[in-house]
Amino acid sequence: MQGKLYVVGTPIGNLDDMVPRATQVLQFVDLVLAEDTRHSGQLLAQLGLSKPLKSCHDHNEKELAGQVVDWLRQGKNIALVSDAGTPLISDPGFNLVRLAREQGVEVVPVPGACAAILALSAAGLPADRFSFVGFPPAKSGPRKTWLQEIGHLQHTLVAYEAPHRILDLLDDLIAVLGSARFLVVGRELTKRYESWYRGTAQEVRDQLAADPQHLRGEFVVLLQGEPSQGELDAAELHRYLKVLLEELPPSRAAAIAAKLLGAPKQTCYQVALAIQQASSEVP
Ligand code: SAM
Repeated sequence: MQGKLYVVGTPIGNLDDMVPRATQVLQFVDLVLAEDTRHSGQLLAQLGLSKPLKSCHDHNEKELAGQVVDWLRQGKNIALVSDAGTPLISDPGFNLVRLAREQGVEVVPVPGACAAILALSAAGLPADRFSFVGFPPAKSGPRKTWLQEIGHLQHTLVAYEAPHRILDLLDDLIAVLGSARFLVVGRELTKRYESWYRGTAQEVRDQLAADPQHLRGEFVVLLQGEPSQGELDAAELHRYLKVLLEELPPSRAAAIAAKLLGAPKQTCYQVALAIQQASSEVP
């Protein structure tokens, strides 16, 4: 009889969020693969469990996968956990799960917390369609390119960010997508100091920068999708562009209006051209 690979979600900060079935699985398996064996050893100890642990992280997962699949085929039941939350979601495990599936080994997901999904469920942004975009690039140049690539999507974007980069991300976001884009930041979810910041990109940046305590901990950043042409306040766009066109050519006026309103540049440009043309036709 082949064993099964259990992909087990764990809490993201509050031990009470451990799901009973996840505990049962960890109790029953022969081996637990963990990103950090010391960290997961503590979780097991808190649950009153003692199990053989083997480390499985970004740097050894590929080599280890073949060996683990052999053990599974020999009948061992194995659990995969990350330090916190759901394995594979910005965490190791993809190579192992893919190989197990390719080799016909059963893979069983056991639910636990996932910061992205938790944040989405409580942010108050549309959650019927969304993209999870992981961690932004660490350096400003690639991060701005990344923002240009994803910023035009019209559904909610969910990203993870480290505390020492959160302000840099918001600064680049303001530079590329404008200060008016609406966003939500969820910090320290499920923990004692859970907090939420909501508003335009500029407002959220200011709320976070106002107190060094706000810059500690773990963050999920949720960005409202770019408004579609139908959602834009046409009268407001018209008003902004009319003023800007008194001083600037259409391309510059459109770029500034797009930033101020968080609107698509192309739409602003087309409206700017239409206003310019209409005013040149006036006798
Ligand atoms: N696999 C995990 C999951 O399912 O959420 C995510 C692992 S990823 C390496 C860690 C990132 O998730 C953190 O840097 C942070 O962006 C986010 N995160 C994890 N726990 C969080 C929490 N309690 N509150 C807010 N964000 C959290």
